[in-house]
Amino acid sequence: MALTRRALLGGAAASLTLVQSGCARRPSQPDFEGGWVGVSVERGHRVRELAKSGALPAPAVRRRAAVLVVGGGIAGLAAARELALSGIDDVQLLELEERSGGNSRGHAMGGMACPLGAHYLPLPGPEAHEVAELLETLGLSQQRAGRTVYDERHLCHSPQERLFHEGRWVEGLLPPAPDGSRTQAQYRRFAALLREASAEAAFSMPTHRSGWSAAHAALDAVSFAHWLQVQGLDDPLLGWYLDYCCRDDYGAGPEVVSAWAGLHYFASRHGFQAPGEAEGEREAVLTWPEGNAWLAERLARPLGERLHAGRTVLSVEEGRHGVEVLAWNEAQQQAEAWSAGRVVMATPLFVAARLLRRGEPALTEAARRQRHAPWLVANLQLDEPLVERPGSVPPAWDSVRQGGDPRALGYVDAMHQSTRPHPGPTVLSAYWALPQAQRAALLDEDWRVWAARVIADLAAVHPDLPYKVKRADLMRYGHAMSIPVPGLRGSAALRALGEARGRVRFAHADLSGYSVFEEAYTWGVQVARRLAGRRH
Ligand SMILES: Cc1cc2nc3c(=O)[nH]c(=O)nc-3n(C[C@H](O)[C@H](O)[C@H](O)COP(=O)(O)OP(=O)(O)OC[C@H]3O[C@@H](n4cnc5c(N)ncnc54)[C@H](O)[C@@H]3O)c2cc1C
Repeated sequence: MALTRRALLGGAAASLTLVQSGCARRPSQPDFEGGWVGVSVERGHRVRELAKSGALPAPAVRRRAAVLVVGGGIAGLAAARELALSGIDDVQLLELEERSGGNSRGHAMGGMACPLGAHYLPLPGPEAHEVAELLETLGLSQQRAGRTVYDERHLCHSPQERLFHEGRWVEGLLPPAPDGSRTQAQYRRFAALLREASAEAAFSMPTHRSGWSAAHAALDAVSFAHWLQVQGLDDPLLGWYLDYCCRDDYGAGPEVVSAWAGLHYFASRHGFQAPGEAEGEREAVLTWPEGNAWLAERLARPLGERLHAGRTVLSVEEGRHGVEVLAWNEAQQQAEAWSAGRVVMATPLFVAARLLRRGEPALTEAARRQRHAPWLVANLQLDEPLVERPGSVPPAWDSVRQGGDPRALGYVDAMHQSTRPHPGPTVLSAYWALPQAQRAALLDEDWRVWAARVIADLAAVHPDLPYKVKRADLMRYGHAMSIPVPGLRGSAALRALGEARGRVRFAHADLSGYSVFEEAYTWGVQVARRLAGRRH
């Protein structure tokens, strides 16, 4: 399927002027290829239709497992791997897609690996000891003289981030502000308020290690936008930055997420450094060309044949002596009945609520409270490097444009970690978080329409980009991840699911009310350790 550059550039006429003025070659071939990749929308929708009708297919095959894990994202893989490593051989994992990894899968274009979703992991803090153990096991870190030292090959190379601000690229993502300006004063005030909030309430990652106090509950009850307004934080540049950060991690802005989530982002994972304040340790992240698929693939390896991809689970029913699970084998087009002693539900909670035949009140309540952002990841294969602007900072791993399409979150360069001496062909992965109202358009509209939108937005800062795109592979997520809306994180329903002790357990980032690797991985490991403890 090809898209003509002429049609594409219709929406980027201003950029075209720059291209014609000689900063890029003219198109030698008029079209590029592409399409939707990575996700089987119809498989997920089949579960929804069956849940509505209740008409399940008769099984052609019967199988047994001591523990059955439903869903092979980071949480499900972590649970199954941990169970297998604890000596429980009879653990089996059923995954709907043809490849495990969930939101942390990867892709390749022109022989270059690129992410389909999650693309980095910040260095774990002191409470994320399961993640720290994993990184050490995978050889990404080691202890030297009482310090954790990370393998430099996997730490994001410098320069890490840049922002397109007032016509040029500048270092970092916080918009620069002159000394003594009101903007700078508000940056300082936000940093001070963040320190105060952290002294009053812990913000750890994984979040359940913070405990839950009255201070947390008060922050969880209101939107981040409301909290900012009460604090008098109304500077437009600070507002842009906080909006970008919330949309980047949560898929929705400060008016949608809770104040708890808005502060947690900075206090637990990213920090906030006002210009001119004492230098903290530079924010470091681990990243790979294929993003967190590097980790997902290593989690899947020890499972071998115990990982069954292409199995869409249709129903889960808890009985007196075990759990009955019905799955659809996509390759053989037949139903499989599984009997398991225990089941770990590692799907998003709204999916688990559809699959479980006997409604669990906490699950119904958690699914009712959750909101999900649709996301688009557009991987653009370029056959040569982009022309850089004189007077700007050099290309970084992550490039963000201030003032472009409000859905766009910038792009990462899949070849940034390569050690090649000169820039060359690459894949740019552009991330867009969409309003919930655009879910239907994301599912219904042609990939070319979305590719054109992404390319037109990027053409405003890279006028030569439309001429260099060889292929565009787009991944769409109807329900990418749970948005931490007010009242969700502190809900009794989420707590009850995290503490479930019956035959059916839950492990998914949704249990934290928002989605990052550390949360997903820790839930998976914890549920496995509890199950293994019970058996020994
Ligand atoms: C675009 C995007 C970018 C992101 N970037 C980052 C990042 O850079 N860093 C970061 O830490 N986090 C990032 N995240 C968050 C990411 O969601 C988490 O890091 C993590 O991958 C979540 O894992 P999970 O196991 O909780 O969930 P999921 O990834 O949702 O896994 C659930 C699994 O269940 C399967 N499943 C669903 N229904 C069924 C069924 N009926 N039968 C069988 N299987 C089923 C799914 O196919 C999937 O594999 C990003 C997410 C998205 C969408």
